[in-house]
Order: sequence, then structure tokens, then C-alpha cells
Amino acid sequence: MPELPEVETVRARLAPVLGGRRLQRVEISDARLTRPLAPDDVARALEGERVRTVDRRGKYLIVRFESGRALLIHLRMTGSLRHAAAGALPDDPYRRAVVRLDDGSDVAYRDVRRFGTWLLLELSEVGAYVDARVGLEPLSETYKARDLAAVLARRRAPVKSALLDQRTVAGVGNIYADEALWRARIHPRRPAGELDGDDVRRLHRAIRQALELGIARQGSTLTDYRLPDGNAGTMQTEFRVYGRDGEPCERCGTPIEKIRLAGRGTWYCPRCQPPPAAPQAASSSSRRPSRSRRQSSV
Ligand SMILES: [Zn+2]
Repeated sequence: MPELPEVETVRARLAPVLGGRRLQRVEISDARLTRPLAPDDVARALEGERVRTVDRRGKYLIVRFESGRALLIHLRMTGSLRHAAAGALPDDPYRRAVVRLDDGSDVAYRDVRRFGTWLLLELSEVGAYVDARVGLEPLSETYKARDLAAVLARRRAPVKSALLDQRTVAGVGNIYADEALWRARIHPRRPAGELDGDDVRRLHRAIRQALELGIARQGSTLTDYRLPDGNAGTMQTEFRVYGRDGEPCERCGTPIEKIRLAGRGTWYCPRCQPPPAAPQAASSSSRRPSRSRRQSSV
């Protein structure tokens, strides 16, 4: 699933292509993409719009138009965008939409599993819509360890689960959560609210380092993610733990282990990332599974 580095890579590639261009013709062939609105209605509303900027918040791409409206694109599991010169788009059975720009080039949306969404909003609606679903941007200059501490405090959920909640940190998903926790030497099952100041400072730095490396490598291509020119990212060759169960930890040589946490495959080093302290014997009989806050997987 595309996470912050993948979406940011797409944004950076599409921004110069789309900026200042008018959407000449829009074809949306999948009703799931725009529901509950009819795809033809959304396509007609988009035609004639001129692009002002292409922004990103968390995993949302935000195409802002000169009219003030904005198209929020979420790639979800398998969505990707492709830009090609006129007539150069390859055949694709999973193509769900094509936008013809006024320079004759095309932007095509591909989605094998069809969980992606295109949502057309008025300018006044964008901020509230996104802010209700997405926490602070971890790569913003103003993002501090104390911001991370504030959203982890008092949460009993495992820190990995807390990181997957988009309201905790914008754009972190399964891959970069595991990579960041390894960098910070924090076990994914440790209760989020029990991290001390030092843990949170290491995790804050680790999240930024993992995401920045992901952007520098133009994202990770495991199956579906592609850059708009069709090429693959290379971050998958740089994973320290993700998908590497049985391979040696590059810090200590201990084999990486895999567990399931919050329904997701989770990789960590059992030596560098020590498990949470065992509960006291007296309270173990009454110990209940920690209640995690409702997950937001946007
Ligand atoms: Zn290790």
C-alpha cells in the first residue's frame, strides 16, 4: 500500500506535469472510484478545470484547481497514476480513469483492487475533511518530538498499532512503521503510552529518517506501486526489517522475527527491540487485552 514516501514521490512527479494545465477530457470507468457520486457527473465537473497546485496530506494527493475546488485522490491498496504523451498510454485492463490534459498528454489512474477514491471538494471543505482523518505531517519543519509524545500519551494500544492510525502521524503505514521502530530500537508491542521521553525522541527521529529514505529512493515497489513514468521505486532494497524474517539484523546479526499485530505482518529484531516488561504476577490473571482506539486506515 502506498505510504507517505510513495504518495510524495507521485506528487513531486505530477506537480510539474499538471501545474497550469486544463483538464480537457475526463473519463471515469469505475463507479467505485467516485461513489456515492456517479462517475460521469464527477468527470463532467472536472472537465475545464485548470490545475493550480498538486499537494499532499498524509496519503492524500490534493489537486487544487483555479476555481477553488480540489480533487482528493487516495490510492489505498493498489492505486497508481501514470502520465504519458498523447497516444502513448499502454493497454491496461485495470485502468479506471483517464484525464486528457490541454497539452495532449494523458494522466491515467490504474487500480487492481479498486479501493482507491476520487473525491471532488469545494475549497472550504478540504481542510476540515483532511484534518479529521489525518494527524500532523511528520516531515514538516515544525513537527517536534513533543507532538508525537502528545498523541501517544495515555494510549494503551501497542505503539505499532498507534502508528498505523493516520491520526497519530500522517502517512505512516505498515512498512515505514516497522522500519522506524527498528531504527528507534522499540518493540512494536510496547504500549504507546508507556514510551518515555527518550523513546519518543528516538522514534520521532526514526520516523523522519525512514520516510526521508523512502522518498530519496522514490518509494518501495513490492507489487503495484509505480512512479508516473511507469518505473519502480527502489526503497524495497533498503528495508532493515520489513519482509526480512530469518535474515540477520544489520545491527546485531540476530535473525529478524515476524509476528502479526493489528492484523498486519510485523517485523522486528528480537534483540535490538526488547519486548515490553512482563506484567506483574499479581495482576496477570486480571490482565485484559488493551483496548485500542478505533483504527483509521485512511
Ligand atoms: Zn538487532
